[in-house]
Amino acid sequence: MRILVVGGGGREHAICWALKKSPKVKELYCAPGNGGIAQVAECVPIPVNKFEEIAQFAIDHTIDLVVIGPDDPLAEGIVDHLEAKGLTVYGPRQNAAIIEGSKVFTKQLLKKYDIPTAAYESFDSYEPARAYLNQLRAPYVIKADGLAAGKGVIIAQSIEEADQALQDIMVAKVFGESGNQVVIEEFLTGQEMSILSFVDGEVVRPMAAAQDHKAVYDNDQGPNTGGMGTYSPLPHIPQSIIDEAIETIIKPTAKAMVAEGRPFRGVLFAGLMLTPEGPKTIEFNARFGDPETQVVLPRLKTDLLDIFLATVNGCLDQMDIQWSDEAAVCVILASPGYPAAYPKGLPIEGLEDAENEPDALVFHAGTAVQGGQLVTNGGRVIGVTALGSNIAEARAKAYAAADRIRFEGKHYRTDIAKKALV
Ligand code: ATP
Repeated sequence: MRILVVGGGGREHAICWALKKSPKVKELYCAPGNGGIAQVAECVPIPVNKFEEIAQFAIDHTIDLVVIGPDDPLAEGIVDHLEAKGLTVYGPRQNAAIIEGSKVFTKQLLKKYDIPTAAYESFDSYEPARAYLNQLRAPYVIKADGLAAGKGVIIAQSIEEADQALQDIMVAKVFGESGNQVVIEEFLTGQEMSILSFVDGEVVRPMAAAQDHKAVYDNDQGPNTGGMGTYSPLPHIPQSIIDEAIETIIKPTAKAMVAEGRPFRGVLFAGLMLTPEGPKTIEFNARFGDPETQVVLPRLKTDLLDIFLATVNGCLDQMDIQWSDEAAVCVILASPGYPAAYPKGLPIEGLEDAENEPDALVFHAGTAVQGGQLVTNGGRVIGVTALGSNIAEARAKAYAAADRIRFEGKHYRTDIAKKALV
């Protein structure tokens, strides 16, 4: 079969890597791809927001299945656009991708169907939002309604900081239209956990649970990032809690989307807080998470293409999906300065050495090839994943491989998966 993956980050590298293992995949393309994806797929220089060009490429190359990676094109309706051209697409339509694209929509949905989440209010202008802050105590949780590249959530420790966040979002419009509405919600405490699921309407097939590390520095210090590292499984979290989250949050949400006439088809990512009262929803994403994908897909024993095909053919419920007992740990190597401004074009060395480390997989997030040299091309540059018989072993292997890769100013967290060791 001929497959086109849309996107160009670490997530899409992991998806391409997994698809490449399928004996059914004869030709694999990725638009636009990156320096690492080029090793497993033919990269096509079409940006993810050029729906018409993507459709034309897929038609010209008689693509059997298009797989959408990133959130922005999903929220903008790429699936509807490509389907209208007669293409078969893996990913949610625009009316279901809204579960990630609008936090106000999702909070209303969760409230309507009584699905656990933080108490909240939403506002479409600054003054009432500001007045509402006076009724609350710190820390204040303020969220821009729409997509904001992972930066639209502010946890403010003082009312002045909270007010500033509201002004930035609603008055200065630092996130553009995404700030037309805000959600202000109750601060939740507990451990965070991500559960990704293959979903087709009411059919929910959960993947292995994973945990991300969002803050840039060790011990969860510093500003939030797109994710500095992940691990799976979560040996310190009882299976009963994971099952509770699936039964009380993920399955009811999939059902609610069907009831709303917005059946979800694709990967539904649930960001959860394990509070003392039980798991509560923080957010949903309408696609594979990055870097969760880099630890979940290496543990998948079933052919990923078969799962995608079962979904688009309406028989996901009949799939036998198998997971490896091995543990996986992913360490993200970031550019100097990230998550603030960072330089691009720094030469990267030592990649082959890293790939030759036992059980290591190197997924490129922000790389490019310039004049035959692999260089940095994003904030999160490379994710180094390793598999092991347990978290400790996978972790040691991931760090051994991560140390082999060199570029100027490289930085990473040294405590990924540490919580799971105790
Ligand atoms: P992502 O990049 O994961 O898509 P996002 O911008 O959609 O992020 P959220 O996942 O909603 O934002 O929130 C980002 C982080 O903020 C969460 O991972 C969590 O650490 C923290 N957070 C969000 N909501 C709450 C809350 N109600 N209480 C405590 N912390 C929260």
